[in-house]
Amino acid sequence: MYLEAVKKKKPPLLQFSSRGIYCAVADVYLDPWRPVPKALITHGHADHARWGHGQYICTEASLPILKHRLGNIQLSGRPYGDRFLVNGVQFSFHPAGHVLGSAQIRVEYQGEVWVFTGDYKLENDGVSTPFEPIRCHTFISECTFGLPVFDWQNPTEIHSQINHWWAAQNSDKRSAVLMGYSLGKAQRLLKHLDPNIGPIYTHSSITAMTEVTSAQVDFPKTLALNKEVDKNDLKGALILAPPAAAGGAWMKKLSNPSTGYASGWMSFRGARRRRGFDRGFVLSDHADWKGLLKAIKATGCEKVITTHGYTHLFAQYLREQGYDAITEKTAFEAETPAEETSTTL
Ligand SMILES: [Zn+2]
Ligand SMILES: [Zn+2]
Repeated sequence: MYLEAVKKKKPPLLQFSSRGIYCAVADVYLDPWRPVPKALITHGHADHARWGHGQYICTEASLPILKHRLGNIQLSGRPYGDRFLVNGVQFSFHPAGHVLGSAQIRVEYQGEVWVFTGDYKLENDGVSTPFEPIRCHTFISECTFGLPVFDWQNPTEIHSQINHWWAAQNSDKRSAVLMGYSLGKAQRLLKHLDPNIGPIYTHSSITAMTEVTSAQVDFPKTLALNKEVDKNDLKGALILAPPAAAGGAWMKKLSNPSTGYASGWMSFRGARRRRGFDRGFVLSDHADWKGLLKAIKATGCEKVITTHGYTHLFAQYLREQGYDAITEKTAFEAETPAEETSTTL
């Protein structure tokens, strides 16, 4: 009886504090949103890898991305699957398939296992190390697209739609402007573009991020979109740009461009039109409804904690399926300027 009472009073292995997801025994935070002494980082997006921490630990594949984004920080990298101890708590990073270098964080202490996903998707995007299901007792899952309406088509089909669209613009001597956020989506789009159609130009923030990741991934040849580029060279070309750059002065150089936007949000009817794009391609780096459920099932977990996205509806559905599911508030954004600019949706 006594032992049971002690067990019950034991604080959870990971707690949701005002500074981030906290492991008290190890005294470390996972993707903290306020400055902390020691942070484990799942991936390089701005809402997960923030400024001001004393010490950063991430995957080896994320190292160049975090250095590029955060500059001179105290940073160390671990290979996927490598187990390391902090105050007797065992931590390891496992592929999340979200963007290059992205990881789930596994935490084990006294036989209890928790997994924090960060952001993830199940499809192999050809750039990130594919998602790996990890057995655990408690699974902290994002649910950006945690509604049944989000049901992704096969990405191969989407990539071929994109190449067809570009080829059509190319034969009309028009430029094709393809929008996708600079870390993750841009590299994924680039990887699957057919360079036989025409030249590929990248907007400056994508040029920089692609350079940072090019040591790890083979990309088709690209040209930098800068002031020296001649108007005529852009006819029939594809220009890869972040959504935030849409409508910028650089677009005036293009003659009658066709614009396309690749995002999971494009599955909302009217989203493309409201944002003023000619084409919307439904391509996301987050799991859809079925993907989330599949990932949860594969962990064998009993407890699920839902974070950013359609958390409440999703947790309610999980409870109906017999899971012990709750929602916790975090400062992760279901859509951020660095990731998705869907604020007008
Ligand atoms: Zn992310
Ligand atoms: Zn996120």
